[in-house]
Amino acid sequence: MKDLKSLIRTIPDYPKPGILFRDVTTLLGDAQGFKAAIAQLAEPFRTIPVDAVAGIEARGFILGGAVADRLGCGFVPIRKKGKLPWKTIGEEYTLEYGVDVIEMHEDAVAAGSRILIVDDLIATGGTAEATAKLIRRSGADIVAAAFVIDLPDLGGLKRLDAMGVKSHTLMA
Ligand code: IMP
Repeated sequence: MKDLKSLIRTIPDYPKPGILFRDVTTLLGDAQGFKAAIAQLAEPFRTIPVDAVAGIEARGFILGGAVADRLGCGFVPIRKKGKLPWKTIGEEYTLEYGVDVIEMHEDAVAAGSRILIVDDLIATGGTAEATAKLIRRSGADIVAAAFVIDLPDLGGLKRLDAMGVKSHTLMA
């Protein structure tokens, strides 16, 4: 099987000039690569209790759903503002220009439950930090946050560490 990193396509100047976009669709499209990525994301959590995976829109749904199936736990979607049909709680986070909001159904995670956050990539950590805050507001505990890719220069993992959230990543 190919090295997982070689299955990620890097696209210069997307979505804006100067950005080097890591495209995981090429990994998802490779049967062996996808299976290996899910196995590796789930591995540290196979022997500890996890009640649900919280997957961040949109690639966190694909990866997180498969990780939840592998761990035998539930799945909670963390969505952009206005997409969820029931009552929600939301958390703002800062983008390069302006702010955005992510939301979760207010009854999606139970107090005291153990949640694993999953997304394709962590950059500044703003999205994952807002997700962690949302989950904690519901009284749930965060087991860890798992990502295929970390962009270490942008400091996301340090930001999660500062709030006491452990991380698991497959490559930098
Ligand atoms: P952060 O909030 O700055 O950590 O950005 C992470 C979020 O933006 C995640 O939901 C990623 O899916 C998305 N993202 C940022 N940069 C990239 C990239 O290069 N490839 C894929 N997704 C990215």
